[in-house]
Amino acid sequence: MQIKEIFPSIYKLKTNNQEILVTKNLTPGITYYGEPVFEIDDIEYRSWNPTRSKIAAVILKNIKHMPILPGCFILYLGAASGTTVSHVSDIVGLEGHVWGLDFAPRSVRDLLDKVTRHRRNVSPILGDARKPSSYSPYVPLVDVIFADVAQPDQADIIAKNGSYFLKEGGWIMLTVKSRSVDVSEKPENVYEAQIRVLENAGYQIHEVIILDPFEKDHAMILASFV
Ligand code: SAM
Repeated sequence: MQIKEIFPSIYKLKTNNQEILVTKNLTPGITYYGEPVFEIDDIEYRSWNPTRSKIAAVILKNIKHMPILPGCFILYLGAASGTTVSHVSDIVGLEGHVWGLDFAPRSVRDLLDKVTRHRRNVSPILGDARKPSSYSPYVPLVDVIFADVAQPDQADIIAKNGSYFLKEGGWIMLTVKSRSVDVSEKPENVYEAQIRVLENAGYQIHEVIILDPFEKDHAMILASFV
């Protein structure tokens, strides 16, 4: 097995017949969603599944910019039970921090029980991403806001959060689920409309990555505040 760092703290593992995306497990011996682990030179790596995590999917689709870096502060909107949050926590490490927000009490309970209990660089927040003022006392300025809320107004939601929490020069990563915005519209038109919302809010678009075949009719938009 060969391991190669493709972005800071994000690795590709090469076995005889396949390449697997992995992160270094911040909590060796503990896994979060049945993901396979691999030990190389006494370091445990966790497999990062692109069909269960849109950030893994965009990495395998050759994303050019990776704003989630060791030491970063991340606001994660739509944390669910923490599958992707756990990998973001591996990447940012103990110098960084992830604030994971979801409005579903069951998801936040799972996030607490399964992930934050073991990881002191993750804080769960039960809250509605449309109401950043309600959680602004608990979240500092961050380097990156990631959103995966699958809502029709997802671009407005991330832009609103940006105005509260994004550091100058910070990045946003918006997952767009085309069918959540408009089932009858072509996905490319939906992505264009979401891009326009972000541009009107003052963001410069850097990349738009289509997530197919990992997630049908999804894209991720990467932008920074100018
Ligand atoms: N990002 C997660 C992962 O990779 O494991 C999956 C997220 S799932 C597609 C969308 C999540 O967004 C759900 O858990 C849902 O409860 C949450 N959500 C939707 N609208 C929201 C809102 N307005 N505020 C907070 N959470 C929201």
